[in-house]
Amino acid sequence: MVNQKKIEEAVKLFLEGIGEDITREGLVETPERIARMCTELFAGIDETPKEHLQKTFSVDNSDIVLERDITFYSICEHHLLPFYGKAHIAYVPDGKVVGLSKLARTVEVYAKRPQIQEQMTAQIADALMEYLKPQGAMVMLEAEHMCMTMRGIKKPGSTTVTIAKKGCFEQNPQLQDYFFMMVGRGNK
Ligand code: ZN
Repeated sequence: MVNQKKIEEAVKLFLEGIGEDITREGLVETPERIARMCTELFAGIDETPKEHLQKTFSVDNSDIVLERDITFYSICEHHLLPFYGKAHIAYVPDGKVVGLSKLARTVEVYAKRPQIQEQMTAQIADALMEYLKPQGAMVMLEAEHMCMTMRGIKKPGSTTVTIAKKGCFEQNPQLQDYFFMMVGRGNK
């Protein structure tokens, strides 16, 4: 659970630390506002996708299921600046599927916490394997990092791409190619 009082105190200290006057009109309510915002931005810290991924439906076929362009917003844990972009998720069912909205919910659980993109990609793929138990899963995240674009090397528009492959996707280049084609990143 987010401790709003601690965040308020921390934001006051932070503002003083950067040389601001915390009594000026525009900043008076900022600590409280940020504390409230944090309950939303970091809601995933105490969550797992278990409840989302365990409501499954039985299916006979084992055709690939792919949800692409799931928009997400997360916070880089090294700089506490946003990184945001699209998640693409695929899996090959082994007798059961989940509602498509549950894949987006799973992304949210891992986005709403201090995060690094590589880890988030792996966590989504691992969660699918653990709770849905498909034959395999593949996850691709494409994101722009504010810590790359508004500071440091300042490369606006650059995108970081991370991929995780599990189960039947690991040793199957054809299946991987199919994934890339389906998300619009193939070369065919
Ligand atoms: Zn960063």
